[in-house]
Amino acid sequence: MTALFPTYKRFNLIVEQASGTTVEDTDGQSYLDFGAGIGVCSLGHRHPAVQEKLETQLNAYWHVSNLYHNPIQEKVADLLTRYSTGDQVFFCSSGTEANEAAIKLARKATGKHKIISFNQSFHGRTFGTMGATGQEKIHTGFGPMLETFQYVPFNDSDALKQAVDGETAAVMLEMIQGEGGINIADYDFIQQLADVCRKNHVLIIVDEVQTGIGRTGKPFAYQHYGISPDIITSAKGLADGVPVGAMIATEALRDSFGPGSHGATFGGNPLAMAAAEAVLEHAFRENFLQEVTEKGHYLMEQLNKAIGQLPVVSSIRGKGLMIGIDCNRNVSYLVESLIEKGLLVLSAGPHTIRLLPPLIVSREEIDLAVDLLHDVLTDEKAPIS
Ligand SMILES: *Cc1c(COP(=O)(O)O)cnc(C)c1O
Repeated sequence: MTALFPTYKRFNLIVEQASGTTVEDTDGQSYLDFGAGIGVCSLGHRHPAVQEKLETQLNAYWHVSNLYHNPIQEKVADLLTRYSTGDQVFFCSSGTEANEAAIKLARKATGKHKIISFNQSFHGRTFGTMGATGQEKIHTGFGPMLETFQYVPFNDSDALKQAVDGETAAVMLEMIQGEGGINIADYDFIQQLADVCRKNHVLIIVDEVQTGIGRTGKPFAYQHYGISPDIITSAKGLADGVPVGAMIATEALRDSFGPGSHGATFGGNPLAMAAAEAVLEHAFRENFLQEVTEKGHYLMEQLNKAIGQLPVVSSIRGKGLMIGIDCNRNVSYLVESLIEKGLLVLSAGPHTIRLLPPLIVSREEIDLAVDLLHDVLTDEKAPIS
């Protein structure tokens, strides 16, 4: 018996210590980390620049309420808006809260109540964002979802056009569905989405909780598509492991979130802001993003060469350092075998192995990971289910 709720199915691993791309367990075994938490440790574990800013902040103060001015929040907000279409930021402590803020803002600013999201999407676990999530398994057992949300097949512009009506406040989407299986939005679909939204005065909310902060080789993944979202949400990789969330929105939406309209006690916590500042100063540099793009190409190329032809692999997809390997069987045994061999990976749905290495990963580490993947995926013992 454990004193914890059994909400997570846990692998048999206890971390003792972690640094960069390496995690060490309590038995002294080390692992190459190609999950980075779940895309959280964007600059690797305990990046020195982040650690330094955190230590400085630890010695100054840990909390200040949002009743007072906060220059570190201003700095991070300035960086987030400089590298996106947004003009101001609301800070909170997680992805689900950032999306919750986006949903409330869209409804308040438009005076309309309907929000369209997509099948296989994932937007979080609060009652609101669970409703935004287009996956039956997330809803099961919780009774009727909020009526606000309507789900449409991803990459289906006809279905989207049919769903939009006079009550539609916003369309909410991930540019690459992360939890849903690494499904990449088609370029044409996004152009049509932007067009139908503009014509119907419907806001675009892009959930960049997993895809943002350089993960795909751009500050935010929507920037591959040339669109201008009204609202962008961020979290996971934003503070290299310190809990944080952010909702970034355009100037036109500023006054809808006036004093008293929304808030979060822990939002913009100084420790989180110190870490986020260090992350953004690193991750948004042009040559850093270029490296992510090149390493992403390299990883994809090596994967295609080493495992692309294996009978167990049905497709390999991704952008930058966000990659899914579709398999013709349930991947839980494979993920477990990879962990035993010393490579931490994730899954995304039952049939996809998901790779989200820290953005600082080296080519040598990519080679090592690809070798381990090859070893495990050629192992005939993996059960088909
Ligand atoms: C993880 C995730 C969330 C939820 O973030 P939490 O910090 O767990 O609340 C929302 N949207 C996407 C796309 C995610 O990947």
